[in-house]
Amino acid sequence: MVGKVVIIEISGDTSVKPSVIVLKKDREPELYEKARRLDIGTALCFEGEVSPIQKSKRGVEYIVKSITIYSEPLEPLPVDTVGKVPTLLDTRIKYRYLLLRNPVEKAIFKIRAGIIEAARKYFISKGFIEVHTPKIVAAGAEGGATLFPVKYFEQEAYLSQSPQLYKQILMTGLPRVFEITPYFRAEKFNTTRHLNESWGIDAEQGFINGVEDVMKTLEELVCYITDYLRENYVEEQEVLGIEIEKLTPPFKKIKFEEAVDILRSEGIEIPEGEDLTDAAEKKLGEIMAEKGHKIYFIIGFPWKATGFYYMREEDGYHTRKFDLDYKGLEIASGGQREHRYDKLIEAMKNKGLNPENFEFYLEAFKYGMPPHGGFGLGIERLMMKLLNLENIREAIIFVRDRTRIVP
Ligand code: ATP
Ligand code: MG
Repeated sequence: MVGKVVIIEISGDTSVKPSVIVLKKDREPELYEKARRLDIGTALCFEGEVSPIQKSKRGVEYIVKSITIYSEPLEPLPVDTVGKVPTLLDTRIKYRYLLLRNPVEKAIFKIRAGIIEAARKYFISKGFIEVHTPKIVAAGAEGGATLFPVKYFEQEAYLSQSPQLYKQILMTGLPRVFEITPYFRAEKFNTTRHLNESWGIDAEQGFINGVEDVMKTLEELVCYITDYLRENYVEEQEVLGIEIEKLTPPFKKIKFEEAVDILRSEGIEIPEGEDLTDAAEKKLGEIMAEKGHKIYFIIGFPWKATGFYYMREEDGYHTRKFDLDYKGLEIASGGQREHRYDKLIEAMKNKGLNPENFEFYLEAFKYGMPPHGGFGLGIERLMMKLLNLENIREAIIFVRDRTRIVP
């Protein structure tokens, strides 16, 4: 309140920035009185015009003709939606639905929607068809330990940890598919980069000439998303105080073994044939950034460190699996898959899996499976790096982690 003026910021439904309504005692005495008594958190509608004088830096100012109150808070709000008082992450997660009234939270989740919007546009422009694969499944892509069991009538079932097996089967009939999908992972993570329910942008394409085709698609997708956000989400970036950086293809490619050598020379231990740890990934990110590469592919993962479905090179040691890392964080994994039936059975056995449990999957490989490959890009991981979020829990409205299943 400034003298005989009431100024109220109203979180709207279109702009991330609030509408600012200004009521003067001498200009609109009744509305002034009404506005003076409003509690923070009231749901209301106002009618008015954009003010000829714009003083607020926070949003557009309006002169108001009427205010209709729809609902008043029964209690003071449990969080500061204005954002003047810092709120603990735990409380923020609990009351995210209220905090979405704050321009910063609103901007984060508008950008999330923008990522998905851009991904759809990109895939459609390239002839990919959007599909939905089942989230209740009988077998996982990576094995039992990471699956959430589900009671499914008389049968044992799980929540899907990845659309991997299904998008591969689809290559027989739809050789370009994408899916925007949750991943359910039962690992007892407690990190700043893992959720138990996370979302991915998955793609699979057939009739490829090699893994390069798949990397090209991923590279184009990521560049399309960042360009799209840079162009269409200007206000959101401003509210967040960031500028999403322009990424230009081709991204740097570094062999897994080169990465290991670099890391070992920095004194980081990497056991033979094992995947990079989070700490190693982060260190590699720093080293690569010094060389001018914030985003890069790690290619040629060793067979010992990959899923059974990746194509092995002739040497038996390497595979056509890659990761895409951005600022020291894995944001996507992908590769060329094994499409030859016999080799696939051999690979499963080699990984200690029982081919009988994957019959529905294997059968598809008997009927003219084209060479194919694809990837899964983590939406929250991408958001973390684009928006400089410290914790992955900032990138999803309702968090599912080791301890949270409400709200
Ligand atoms: P990590 O090794 O980092 O735990 P991953 O290799 O098990 O991840 P993938 O199976 O390769 O994950 O999944 C594809 C992408 O989905 C990952 O690159 C990541 O961006 C995202 N993703 C996977 N699991 C999670 C998770 N638990 N929480 C958040 N994002 C995830
Ligand atoms: Mg991975």
